Amino acid sequence: MEDYREMWRNLGIDLDAHDQLLAVLPPLYQEVILDQKERPARMAYFDMVFSEIHGKRIQELVSLKEKGKKVVGTFCTYVPEELTLAVGAACVGLCGGAEIATEEVEKILPRNLCALIKSSFGFKVGKLCPYVEACDLLVGETTCDGKKKYYEILAEYGNVYVMELPQRKEERDRSLWREEVRELARRLEELTGERMTVESLKEAIRVVNNKREALLRLMEVRKARPPVISGKDALLINQIAFYDEPRRFAKQVNELCEELEKRAQEGKGVADDSAPRILLSGCPMAIPNWKLPHILESAGAAVVMEELCTGIRYFRYLVDDSPGDVEGLLDSIADRYLEIDCAVFTPNQRRIENIKQLAKEYQADGLVYYAIQFCDPYTVEAYRVKKAAEEMELPFLYIETDYSQEDVAQISTRVEAFLEMLGSRAANR
Ligand code: SF4
Ligand code: SF4
Repeated sequence: MEDYREMWRNLGIDLDAHDQLLAVLPPLYQEVILDQKERPARMAYFDMVFSEIHGKRIQELVSLKEKGKKVVGTFCTYVPEELTLAVGAACVGLCGGAEIATEEVEKILPRNLCALIKSSFGFKVGKLCPYVEACDLLVGETTCDGKKKYYEILAEYGNVYVMELPQRKEERDRSLWREEVRELARRLEELTGERMTVESLKEAIRVVNNKREALLRLMEVRKARPPVISGKDALLINQIAFYDEPRRFAKQVNELCEELEKRAQEGKGVADDSAPRILLSGCPMAIPNWKLPHILESAGAAVVMEELCTGIRYFRYLVDDSPGDVEGLLDSIADRYLEIDCAVFTPNQRRIENIKQLAKEYQADGLVYYAIQFCDPYTVEAYRVKKAAEEMELPFLYIETDYSQEDVAQISTRVEAFLEMLGSRAANR
């Protein structure tokens, strides 16, 4: 890897603490990702992106900034990427997937707050994330209570703008959300000095839709039996989708899909066809949070689909680019994002229906529900998902955890018992 220390220093990174962070990642990546068997050759690109997580991509963002362009950071799949691209800025996802600077974080935030929020804040207060330091604007949203109150504190550390996300999907909610999308568009125009035009919006929609279509193609090939790619590799790709350059990313995903489609035709897989097929559902797993998929796949399961924000919730719907004026295109973008079925919405029946459909389409043998401790929306909604699984006679396992490694042995024991039960069900079929 090149020497990026000068660049990190200029961004205000705490170099000593950052060295310690970077020392932990390669052995973890080796164990969780690189040591897997039969990995597709085209995963090489994503391995490179990860190995350069604080290097090459940051260098790209810094050189954009040197050319007068802006970088915008987001924390949620509801913040429309298209708007950022339409004003010539870069968009990066900033959710944290590692326990970081906990002592400092807990001086300010409560201990019993979701690990994802604490992690994002840890990267900021610990001065450990070149992405957040490269950002000219951080865009938050009023999703769960923890996040919306957290943004008030984050505003003391950076330039924060918060979108108001409604909690229901009635017509008056849609009107509010459309107005919020317009307001963000105005804020981004102000930040960059660029006006959104029909052409720039259509191009941005095309770029982000292409990224979504590439990811949908990847999900389609994961229906194959035996599975042609591991759940961990698919998750890694979904995580990288949040910060890589979108055009290059889509091209690489499509090239990987060509390889995987060939594998599917040849009946070649990464696991045996008898491996229990798992639908994973629940809270987002931000990079480098691979804890549960690693436990599942090490125990012999094949994760075949993620009903997560680092999964299908991020790319399921496309934006309709047919309107011929800026206002119409902005409405079209707003409407697409309002389709997302996060548990912060009520009622949220569409999510239940989507989970049922995914379980059928991916021939899932079991549903594993992942809840981050202290996440009210997802821990409470688990009840309804469990009920839906019972109606489908789909075995259900609920795992509530955080980012620590302390409960790995305990989760592994529960996962092994669950997989054993799935195995005996299959044998009796
Ligand atoms: S789980 Fe909900 S609040 Fe969190 S990133 Fe996804 S959509 Fe946003
Ligand atoms: S995982 Fe839950 S508590 Fe955490 S930020 Fe997302 S919705 Fe909020």
